[in-house]
This record gives sequence, C-alpha cells and structure tokens, in this order.
Amino acid sequence: MNILVTGANRGLGLSFIKLGLEKGYQLFAGVRTLDNKTTKALLELKDSYKNQLHILQLDVTDEQSVALAANSLKESGQTLDVIINNAAVLEEREQTVEELDIEACMNSFNINTLGPMRVVKHFLPLLEVGTKQSIVNISSNAASLTHAYSGDYPYGLSKVALNMFSEKISRELKEKNIRVYSIHPGWMKTDMGGEQAHLEPLESAIGIYDIIEQKIDINSVYIDYQGKRMDF
Ligand code: NDP
Repeated sequence: MNILVTGANRGLGLSFIKLGLEKGYQLFAGVRTLDNKTTKALLELKDSYKNQLHILQLDVTDEQSVALAANSLKESGQTLDVIINNAAVLEEREQTVEELDIEACMNSFNINTLGPMRVVKHFLPLLEVGTKQSIVNISSNAASLTHAYSGDYPYGLSKVALNMFSEKISRELKEKNIRVYSIHPGWMKTDMGGEQAHLEPLESAIGIYDIIEQKIDINSVYIDYQGKRMDF
C-alpha cells in the first residue's frame, strides 16, 4: 500500500509512518519544513527504510507546496492508496467569545479545514483504482455538535467544517469506491494532547490502520480510532 501522511514529523503522524514502515508499506511523509531539526526522527527512520520512506515538503496552508508535492509523485510515476490528512493545530485554548482571536480562528481553518481540502484537491488524481482506497481525515471529538462544550472555538469549528468536507467527499467519491473517514484518534500523549492523555499515539495508529486495512466493518464517516460511530 502507498500512503501519504501530512504532519508526519511528530505525534500521531510519526506513529503512522513508523507503523506503516513496519507493515512493509510505502510511506510518503509530508512535512511543513524540510530542515534537519524538524525531520530528525524521519531521517533516522530513513536509515533503515530507505526504499520505503519518501519525505516531501508539504505545507498544507500553501497550495503551491501541495501542488508541487503532488506533481513530484506524478512525475515519478507513483500512485497512492491512502491519504491521511493528519496535520493540524490547536490554538491557545480561549474560553469565552470575548477572548476570541479572529486571526487564530482563520489560522485554524487554514490548517485544519482548508489544509485537507488542498491536499485532496491535488492528490486525488494519484489515488489508484482498487478496493482499498481511502481518505482519512483526522478529526476530533471536539467536532461533535451533539457533545459540544464551551471554549476551543478555532479548533472545534475548524474540525466541524472538516467533518462536513469528509461527508461531502464521501458522497462524491462513492462511485469511485474511495472510502472516506473523519476519525477521532482519541486523547493522545503528543505535543497537542499533553502528558495527561490516555493513549499513546501508536495505539491510535494501530486502530486506524485496522480501519484502513478493512479489518473492521464501518458504515459511517465520523468514527473513532476503534471504528465506533461518533455523533455529528
Ligand atoms: P501535534 O501537535 O503533536 O502535531 C501536529 C503536526 O501537524 C506536526 O507534525 C506539525 O508540523 C503539523 N502541522 C501543523 N501545521 C502544519 C502545516 N501548515 N503544514 C504541514 N504540517 C503542519 O498533533 P497530534 O499528533 O496530537 O495530532 C494529530 C491529529 O490528531 C491532528 O489532526 C489533531 O487535531 C488530532 N487530534 C489530536 C488529539 C490529541 O489528543 N493529541 C485529540 C483529537 C484529535 P510542525 O512540527 O512543522 O509544526
């Protein structure tokens, strides 16, 4: 399987890369910046997996960067089976509407919603025709309207919009047999989730690979990392 992961240099993104390499897949690791500090963990992996790991500059806020990354794959004759839109930001956690930083809201939408839209727009032509093709948008329980809580305006709203994007493309891509998921990965011990979180990102990645590999029967778009339906 050939898999693209955005935000692949740390957190859940890096766990997708490590686990995918162990499974023998080809991994295309999108990173915002190609400097040695950002890509250190990936470069270390490349020592052991040089034929399976491909590092791409891919800033999801920059359409040209996304288009160039997609073109570089096209030109080398590559195709994809899975797109994992993982890159995201959780802005300063303001609590009240008076504290709202509108710039932060725009930044969150730019990364968390428009980022996956740019990636799907440019990488969709690379998705092979087959039976295991999927687009995985990493969402959050913060996107549930049913279980909404106060605060986290930029993040919550941007992930709700991401869920709508997932729902819409799942309809558009049904006839191409491309599965689309918006997945809550659980509360994970990453820079974003913090130390008190319940899950190691690797556990979440294991569950999400089970979904991608169709080991679990799924019939909804918004689900958690174990394949359980989430309430929109
Ligand atoms: P981290 O904050 O640990 O990592 C975020 C990743 O996104 C980094 O690799 C970062 O790159 C990348 N990124 C940010 N902006 C851009 C950009 N413009 N272009 C490309 N890459 C970018 O997050 P997690 O690993 O915790 O989160 C992964 C996913 O899971 C996210 O979608 C998040 O919303 C979701 N999630 C996480 C939860 C948690 O508990 N951690 C809970 C629910 C959902 P860089 O290093 O360059 O900044």
